[in-house]
Amino acid sequence: MRKQIAAANWKMNLSHHEADSLLDQLLATEHHLSSNQAVIFAVPAIYIPLAVQKLNGKPNIFVAAQNCHQKANGAYTGEIAASMYASVGVHHIILGHSERREFFAESDTLLAEKTEAVLTIGSTPIFCCGEPLEIREAGTQNSFVEAQLKNALFQLSADQIVKVVIAYEPIWAIGSGQTPEPHKINSIHEMIKDVVQSRFSNIGLDSVLYGGSVNSSNAAALFEEDEIDGALVGVASLDGKEFAEIANILNDLT
Ligand code: PEP
Repeated sequence: MRKQIAAANWKMNLSHHEADSLLDQLLATEHHLSSNQAVIFAVPAIYIPLAVQKLNGKPNIFVAAQNCHQKANGAYTGEIAASMYASVGVHHIILGHSERREFFAESDTLLAEKTEAVLTIGSTPIFCCGEPLEIREAGTQNSFVEAQLKNALFQLSADQIVKVVIAYEPIWAIGSGQTPEPHKINSIHEMIKDVVQSRFSNIGLDSVLYGGSVNSSNAAALFEEDEIDGALVGVASLDGKEFAEIANILNDLT
């Protein structure tokens, strides 16, 4: 069933005090999310206990991690396993964000392992894909994204792939204030769903989110598209009013 999601990615931002105030501000907004809608906060790992404690018991509101290690445990100083997040109430994990791919050299092969690790413990990967500017300028974004999906997700089983949330994030749109036209994003989402269906015998994805300079002014036009099932939001998620408004726009969809 289609699942509509507004997900905040705070990245490596905010002091503890600021995180606390932002969560309070967001909690002051009433959402009436239906069972096929969710609002997710991917906060820095160190603020997860704070966010879990504040959001505990709020229906359809979840805390997410921004990354995890591919192994279940071991001598990996500084790393956090998916099961550790699950043990503190976090069952959504962003994987393969373009900043992780670029600054931490995360490859599709590594992301295949991380995706498997997250699914193995019963949590939900929010798998990011998307092309850099030179690929968009060359007009080869579809085959670029298709290769990312094939390399990282095609080893999964049909039972696993249905649990994956995909976030399509053209890298040139992240933090730039530029967004592709909604109908163009819609057609890439269609392609993503087709690629998955072609591999997994017509299994449909519940959610393909768009990420890249989403804000309260452009969210409605994006969410009106049939294949855009929500958004992964960076900068605008650090502003309580902005993100609450984006969540409200999602909430008002029928
Ligand atoms: C992101 O980094 O996932 C993102 C979508 O950022 P922004 O909304 O700032 O473009």
